[in-house]
Amino acid sequence: MEPARVLVVNSGSSSIKYQLLDPDSGKVAASGLVERIGEGGGAIEHTAGEHTVTDQVDIPDHTAGLRLAFAKFADTGQDLTTAGITAVGHRVVHGGEVFYRPTRIDDRVLRTITELSTLAPLHNPANIRGIEAVRTLLPDVPQVAVFDTAFFHGLPEAAKTYAIDRQIAEAHGIRRYGFHGTSHEYVSGRVAEFLGRAPGSLNQIVFHLGNGASVSALRGGSPVDTSMGLTPLEGLVMGTRSGDLDPGIILHLMRTAHLDIDGIDRLLNRGSGLRGMAGVNDFRELRRRIESGDPAARSAYDVYVHRLRHYLGAYLIELGGVDAITFTAGVGENNAEVRADALAGLHRFGIAVDPELNTAADRGARRISPAGAEVQVLVVPTNEELAIARAAVAVTGND
Ligand code: ADP
Repeated sequence: MEPARVLVVNSGSSSIKYQLLDPDSGKVAASGLVERIGEGGGAIEHTAGEHTVTDQVDIPDHTAGLRLAFAKFADTGQDLTTAGITAVGHRVVHGGEVFYRPTRIDDRVLRTITELSTLAPLHNPANIRGIEAVRTLLPDVPQVAVFDTAFFHGLPEAAKTYAIDRQIAEAHGIRRYGFHGTSHEYVSGRVAEFLGRAPGSLNQIVFHLGNGASVSALRGGSPVDTSMGLTPLEGLVMGTRSGDLDPGIILHLMRTAHLDIDGIDRLLNRGSGLRGMAGVNDFRELRRRIESGDPAARSAYDVYVHRLRHYLGAYLIELGGVDAITFTAGVGENNAEVRADALAGLHRFGIAVDPELNTAADRGARRISPAGAEVQVLVVPTNEELAIARAAVAVTGND
């Protein structure tokens, strides 16, 4: 029998990332990135097996972007309209209070995702454009929405409630929703597998450190806290986002710097974090600048690590002890220094990082704590596409 094939689509405001993969083996048949949709000077990079093709062409909208991707599939011998795709899985950022598991998309679901755009004005509309584009091109293939917030749906009341007027909070859906849920769920599951333990028997802290960054605390496989909130802006220092700050700063800037809503939005979402402090959001470039003696880069790094330790301390106490601390995503998987600095000097809590294991060239799931340490410190590569593909098949298989 032909292996099952799932197309996973992650549609952003001006880009579409996609992957065609086998949800059982995880084997990727092809993947790609369409960029600068609707901005002029569009581009696509498509990789099938060993071969990568690139193209530069204006891409007016998401349907045109996806059509271009389909053309690349066809050029490399994979006609998607006849490839027997089992399902299309879409990453959808905000599921609000409504969606807490992967959901087959129909008109009603699409309407509700649209309504939830008030909670994620940058993300949900972009996700919807991706869904509509696939509907046009593959009308007969079931589509499934996999929500970034779903894993955190059951956060305890005390962890998800903001201390503001209850009526206002309820009227406007203001609570902590959490994001990167697909990654936190996938990685924490892999941790249990790696340790050969039942997920229900473990207390875990998972650091997802990519361009966006978040940390979660899990008791027995269920999240009890996470650092992102109503939006993906709260919590850790990120590539371009501030993470936590005194909300009074916003009032102060509106009054004294006369920034309007869009100005504040740009500042906090795109012009803050590492980029705001050091001028760069890419961690590799930040490292280069630190090595060349740039004090702003050094300071940004210190703020970044300080915030990691702040959350680590909070979650250790919330959990009352932890079995495993795991690092994942671009920075978490690749930057040994961040891992070492985040956990430095914590021997009395049973937490330590072995310098040799931490800097080993290994790329797979691995332990970096010394043998016999009380707390397992791990690096586990995330794979959100695989998790989305598996969720999509699980949902459509039950129809
Ligand atoms: P996202 O999916 O949120 O865009 P990623 O998980 O791809 O982000 O992470 C991007 C970050 O990971 C960037 O800051 C990048 O510099 C960093 N990164 C990626 N590869 C490496 C590496 N080999 N060494 C250090 N940092 C890396």
